[in-house]
Order: sequence, then structure tokens, then C-alpha cells
Amino acid sequence: MFIVLGNVAVDETMQSPLLPARGATVLVGPAVRDLGGKGANQAIVLARATTDVRLVATIGSDDTARWIAAALAEEGLDPAHLIRVPGASDRSLVFVGPDGDNAIASTSQCSDALSPAHAEAALRGAQPGDVLLLQGGCTVETNRAAIAAAKARDMRIVFNPSAMREGFDTLLAGVDLVVANAGEAAELVGDGAPLEQAERLVARGVGDAVVTLGARGSVAAGRGGQHAVPAVQAPVRDTTGAGDTYLAVLAAARFMHGAPLAAAMAWASAAAAITVGRPGTRAAFPSRAELAAIAGK
Ligand code: ATP
Repeated sequence: MFIVLGNVAVDETMQSPLLPARGATVLVGPAVRDLGGKGANQAIVLARATTDVRLVATIGSDDTARWIAAALAEEGLDPAHLIRVPGASDRSLVFVGPDGDNAIASTSQCSDALSPAHAEAALRGAQPGDVLLLQGGCTVETNRAAIAAAKARDMRIVFNPSAMREGFDTLLAGVDLVVANAGEAAELVGDGAPLEQAERLVARGVGDAVVTLGARGSVAAGRGGQHAVPAVQAPVRDTTGAGDTYLAVLAAARFMHGAPLAAAMAWASAAAAITVGRPGTRAAFPSRAELAAIAGK
């Protein structure tokens, strides 16, 4: 079983002639509403790539919460694992520029209400070998409690420190797989060549460390060896969700299919290239058939 402990939000995506700058108002195309939030994104791609995925996340007590629960159910994710808290569900405003680049502002009040006690309760029934996925959708304290509970149950732990929060560098020891983009890696272990950053993450107690580099691909170090895997060249429409697609497919390839690290990185890159080629978040993710075709190669 894969348990994603994270956040869910509603994304309002706007195609924008330029990314908003200080003091400027930009007129944009119509806003497109879809599910978002890194926890939900990763759970959705995982649910399309594997079976037996659970998303544990907080939703508010508003109409949006009902919409979120229904949309997750469409993806085969059981809304019974969502935790209802008072107040509004989280929202993100996503501006996508002409090059497919983005700027995002997100609320986190709802996801910050996911407490260490919620995390411990969510992992109570987990078995040795089950996989826990964590990201910056939860607070440092909640992630710390989840990691401790997962270690006590001999689970495999995957950590994606995005959005970065102060204190994430204290969570690394004993994590099986860390996936960070270049900026996140620099915040965790300082500037340097990406492979060197991956090695520094391993020196901090991470099993395998992967640093993703956008169109320049990804590098890895750790138990699975050192690798540099190029990105799959693709026309870029909107890069939102590329990192989440990469992470979910990497985790599925490693922990469900038992793929070697380099092969898993290649699957993840192929899947992320599909996501960058389409607009939107969930709408852009590879389908089950596309993911099965990647896994079958
Ligand atoms: P995001 O926050 O936009 O979801 P990220 O910053 O977490 O992404 P990136 O390093 O930008 O992560 O991208 C993750 C992976 O997605 C890359 O390693 C690469 O395989 C793929 N990817 C990203 N951008 C492109 C691109 N322009 N063309 C092809 N593949 C891409």
C-alpha cells in the first residue's frame, strides 16, 4: 500500500502573457478550475500508475470540500481518508506564462491543520514494506511524526521537500528516497553541482537522493548508484505538476515494480514529459494507459 500524507487544494489556473510582477496587474485568459495540491497530485498519478493508494489530507467545511471529495473519488481515491476541519479548503492561484513556466500562490491554513496526531492515526494500520509519501504539504512537525511512525512500522519513506519549509533539513536521516529540485536541494545542502548535492543528501542519511533539473533531466546518488538521466524532449505547454508526476512514477517504479534506480528515473522522465506537454494540473497528468505503456517498455 502507498499512503500519501499531504495536502489537497483547488487550483485556479490562468494562462498569462507574462508572470505577475510587483505592482502590476495582468489580464489573463479564463481561469480553469481543477484539483491540485502536491499531496493530491502525487496520489492521483500514483493511483493511475499502481493500485492500493490512500490519500490522507485535510479538507475544509465549505462547498469546495465536497467538490474535492468527489473529484478524488473519480480518481479511485477513497474520500473516507480525508479529514474535515473547520474553515475553508486550500486554494492555489496558478499563473502560466507563454513559455509554460509558472508562478503559484497557495493557501495552507487547511493543510497545516493536519496534525502529528492525524499522521500517527493514519499510519496505525500500515504494514512493513508499505510506502509513505511526504511533501511540503504538511508542516515539519507533522512530517516528523509521520516519519517516526513509519520507521516504527518498517515502512519505506519517500520525501519531496516541496514547498520547502524551515526545518526540512532535519528530517532527512533514514528516509529511503528524497526527490528535490535544484532550488530545494540547494536549500537543504547548499549550492553545488547537482550530483554533489545528491551525494550530500546521502551523507545526511538518505538512501537514494534524486535531484531534478527541469528540461535538463535528473541526477541521483545513493544505494541505487550514481546516475544522470536526460529529460525526454517534449513540446512544453505548462510545466505545472512535472515534479509531482516524476516523483509518483519514480516511487511506483521503485517500490511496486522493483525497477533499478536508473530505469525508474527514465520512466519518471517519460511520464513528466507528458505532463509538461499539456495545459492544467490533473488534466495534464498521464492516463493509466499512458503509464502502463511507459512501464511496459
Ligand atoms: P514543478 O514544480 O514544475 O512541478 P519541479 O521543480 O518539482 O517541477 P522539475 O525539476 O522542474 O521539478 O521537473 C521534474 C522532471 O520533469 C525533470 O527531471 C524532467 O524529467 C521533467 N521535466 C520538467 N520540465 C521539463 C521540460 N521542459 N521538458 C521535458 N521534461 C521536463
